[in-house]
Formats: sequence, structure tokens, C-alpha cells
Amino acid sequence: MKRRAFLKQAAGGLAAGAIAAPAIAQSQPAIQWRIASSFPKNLDTIFAAAELVARRVAEVTDNKFQIRVFAANELVPGLQVLDAVQNGTVEAGHTAPYYYVGKDPAFAMGTCLPFGLNARQHNAWKYYGGGMEAMAELYKDYGVVHFPCGNTGVQMGGWYRKEIKTVADLKGLKFRIGGLAGQVLSKLGVVAQQIAGPEIYQALERGTIDAAEWVGPYDDEKLGFNKVAKFYYYPGWWEGGPELSLFINDKKWAALPKAYQAALESACAEANLHMLARYDSKNPESLRKLVAGGTQLRPFPAAIMEAAQKAAFELYAELGNKSVHWKRIYPGWKKFRDEQYLWFRIAEYGYDSFAYTSRANTGAK
Ligand code: CA
Repeated sequence: MKRRAFLKQAAGGLAAGAIAAPAIAQSQPAIQWRIASSFPKNLDTIFAAAELVARRVAEVTDNKFQIRVFAANELVPGLQVLDAVQNGTVEAGHTAPYYYVGKDPAFAMGTCLPFGLNARQHNAWKYYGGGMEAMAELYKDYGVVHFPCGNTGVQMGGWYRKEIKTVADLKGLKFRIGGLAGQVLSKLGVVAQQIAGPEIYQALERGTIDAAEWVGPYDDEKLGFNKVAKFYYYPGWWEGGPELSLFINDKKWAALPKAYQAALESACAEANLHMLARYDSKNPESLRKLVAGGTQLRPFPAAIMEAAQKAAFELYAELGNKSVHWKRIYPGWKKFRDEQYLWFRIAEYGYDSFAYTSRANTGAK
């Protein structure tokens, strides 16, 4: 190649390269999506996870891939997000898979099971323990691709108008509770209700329900449950580390450029990290404020925890006969859980049990 020709080609190559750098932005299509959230806007931890996804995706695609996030009831009711994604009303939805246990109980494992995994263990199962693949096979039946997109950490046990001292006190209790926990508590006499976030306060205020659980101090204070119920129980044994997920219509997903798919997947992972960090950073102050305002903190009596745990594992044994997906996913989940418990019992529990109870750290003299 002659030097002049080479330079010309090099210059051409350089020019093409100069265009190619922003070529992702220039040659990729402008795409607009909508995310239907199951949550109200005022919950700036949980709702904000979907907003973070939208913002980050726009930033890394030079605003070519734009997503608008709609709160519960703006496009569809909070508990119908899966259907909206499945039938293509929206391209994606930010929701809790366990809202859909009525379709298949195996959806619960996409969020959490009572007496299951904490947030770290759940992420370990999803990302490295076969959980992503296991859940994907279920969601495929609904035309959905998914990514973990937020976690609250272990939740509180909810708000009660009256104290719950014995297992017998649960009998007839009208309790707003999500996922399979309602079925577990039904075995103990609770009348479980599934009500979307925005409607819980009113139901508790009117006395349509006797008790309600949502998430933890930061959200619960915002939703005002302390104004209509005095007793705040812990821990939320049904939600040790619940995942929120981004459900994506599989055809819309397949039609996305690869770079946009990567942007979306990566933004979801970021949101998954940030929601948990945000809850952890916000909860202490909110709990202090609630207690200062008269909220009565109560641990669940051990007898209730024991009875609930027994009922939970009885239910899991039954569900294998009701759902092929449960039968397929649960054994691997359970094995993973048992191995995690074995490990966490050593270093994590050894550390935590000393750290949170030592006299030096509790302020005890
Ligand atoms: Ca909850």
C-alpha cells in the first residue's frame, strides 16, 4: 500500500472511528418504554428503584432509550402489573413476584418465602445459586423476562390494633399480608387479605382489617400506619429479604438492541443494590421517631414464631402437589437455604449476635 493511500485510508478510518465512538447513540434506534410500578410515588425507596433504572438507562444510551415510570393505578392497578406486561399493555413492570401466587405459588420464591433467605442469601441464590434460571422458567410461561430490581432487607411484622400474645390471638385476625405468608397464617386462623400498598392505610383506618404489614419503619411511617394502629411487631419472619423484580415483556426484550439490553440489566443490578442500602440508611431514624411518637414495639412471642414456622413448612410440602414449578424449584431453593444457614450461623451470626447485644454497644451499664 502506498503511503498516501494508507494515510487516506487511515484518515478515513479515523473519521469513521470518530463517528463510531458515539455510534451506539447515533446508529441505535430511539426507543420509548413504559414501566408500570406496583407502588405509589411517595415511597421514595421502592418506587425510586424503577426511576433509577429509567434514569441510568437513558444516561448510558445518550437518551436514546427512554423509559417512563408510572405509579400504581396510573396505568394499571398495583396487583395487575404482571398481566399488563404479559399482554403488552406496558413493556415492563416493577413489582413483587409474590403478588401473583394466585396464578402459581412458585411466584413466591421470586420474592421470598416465610422463614427463607435474607437479602444477601437471596441474591446469592438468584445470581449464583441457580435462582435466576429457576425463576426464568416459570416467568417464561407468562411471556416475561426478569431481573432482580430491589430488596427491602428483613421487614417488620406489621401494625396491630391489639396485642398478639398467643397463637390463639391470631384466630379471626383480619390481616393485610402479602405472598404465601397469608396462607401460612391462615393455618393459624388468620383471615389474610392481599391489598396493594396505596389502599392499606384506609382499610386499617376504617377497621376493614385489624392489622397490616408493609415493609419497615421508613415506609410504614410515611404511610401513617402508626396513626391507626399502636403495636408494631417484629421480625417480619415472612420477609427476610424480599426481592422486587423488573418484569419485561419477552418480545419487547428480544427486540431491544444488545447494548440496550445490557444497559437495562446493569441498571436493574444497580437498583437492586441501592434500594437495600437506602432502606438500611433510612430505617434507624424512622424507628426512633415512631417509638418517640408512642408506637409500642413488640417481638413476636416465640410460640407464634414456632407455630408459624411449622405451618410454613407443612404448606411447602403440600404445594409440590399443586404446582409443577414449585415441585421443580423448591428442592433446590431449600437445599441452598440450608447450606446458607449453616454458613451464616458461623461467621455472620457469631459477629452479629455479639455486636448487637454486647453491653458496650447497647449502652447497657
Ligand atoms: Ca411486607
